[in-house]
Parts: sequence; C-alpha cells; structure tokens
Amino acid sequence: MRNIINKIVKEITLVNSINNHLMEGNDDLKTIKSLKGTIESELKQVYKKITGKDLNLPEIDIKIDDEIKNGKIAGFNHPKNGKKGLMGIKPKALEDKEYLKWVIVHELIHACVGEDLPKHKEHDGLFKKIADEMGLPKEYQD
Ligand SMILES: [Zn+2]
Repeated sequence: MRNIINKIVKEITLVNSINNHLMEGNDDLKTIKSLKGTIESELKQVYKKITGKDLNLPEIDIKIDDEIKNGKIAGFNHPKNGKKGLMGIKPKALEDKEYLKWVIVHELIHACVGEDLPKHKEHDGLFKKIADEMGLPKEYQD
C-alpha cells in the first residue's frame, strides 16, 4: 500500500513539474508578444519617418526554437505560400530581457524590409536606416 501511495505521489509530482515547465513556456511567449507589440508601434513611426509610407507588417507567428543553427540567436522567415511570417527565437535569448528586446527589434526590422536579400546585403540599406533610428546597438545589427 505504502509503495503504491509513494508511486502515485511521485507521478503527481512529475506531472506538476511538467505543467510548471509549460507555464514557463507560456510566460515566455507572453513576454515576447508584449515586447513585440510595443516594438511594432515604435517601428510604425520610424518606418513612416524614413520611407514616408505606412508600415504593413504581415502576421507573424513566434516560435521558441532551440534548433536555430549557424551560431544565430534568432531568425525570421517572410510569409510564403499563404503561410504567416515566422520569428524563431532561441531560449537563450530569454535569459536577459534587454537583450531579448533587441533580438526582437532586429528580427522585426527584417519583417519591415519585407523581402529576402542576399546575405551580404540583408543588414544594409533600409535595414540599417531603421536599425539606427530604432537605436539598435551596432553589435546587434548583424
Ligand atoms: Zn539579421
């Protein structure tokens, strides 16, 4: 009997710790979405100032993604074939909120520029103008 009770207690504890983990994940997403909202309204003004045009950001899904490669902390895929845009962020970026903010600013500027450019050009031109106006520190501009 004691063994059975111990086993049940263990299983309940395990389920609770999994739930807690999921809750943390949700909190992370909430943090990212809230930052994203604030940054987007600032980007709208900056974009208008620089281009004279209204910013039309696509819908963007967010994925906390540990699989991002090439030493990158985050990435952005433009909408394609009827799919929404996708912002991937490594869990590591969530450890520091100030850093996380700049990571989101960086990826959202890619969304503003709105097209895939060759690797050597993707952080020039309009990207750079918006980045400077947003105050994105140089070390986070590429
Ligand atoms: Zn970039």
